[in-house]
Amino acid sequence: MDTGVPECLFCKIVSKQLNAKIIYEDHLLMAIEDINPVAPVHVLIIPREHIGSLNAVNEDQLHILGHIQVAASRIADQLGIAANGYRLVNNCGEWGGQTIYHLHYHLIGGVKLGWPPL
Ligand code: AMP
Ligand code: ZN
Repeated sequence: MDTGVPECLFCKIVSKQLNAKIIYEDHLLMAIEDINPVAPVHVLIIPREHIGSLNAVNEDQLHILGHIQVAASRIADQLGIAANGYRLVNNCGEWGGQTIYHLHYHLIGGVKLGWPPL
């Protein structure tokens, strides 16, 4: 199944036209190291299917979102950040801080995180 969008950076990464440091991959997603990490652990979890943002998700794609959540917890465990805790973040749209319009979740940890985000 080729659901890639030609000019989309993350479509190119999941189809391996562009290199990334791959942490984990399966039939639905790829997890890579963020190129500009904001914490000791900063992984991007990216569905293989091009979905522009959380706003564009439809009910046929719920299994992808569920899969991402479970994969995030497994990856967090593998990277040794599960016990202390971590954050799984989706930035949606301009005000949410989204810069790449292919749905992705940030798995951030390895340090005690602050809250709230403002
Ligand atoms: P967002 O601002 O939520 O859309 O997140 C986009 C993320 O992608 C940022 O944290 C960037 O550092 C990261 N990023 C951009 N280009 C690459 C790349 N080529 N490989 C890995 N991460 C990237
Ligand atoms: Zn894409």
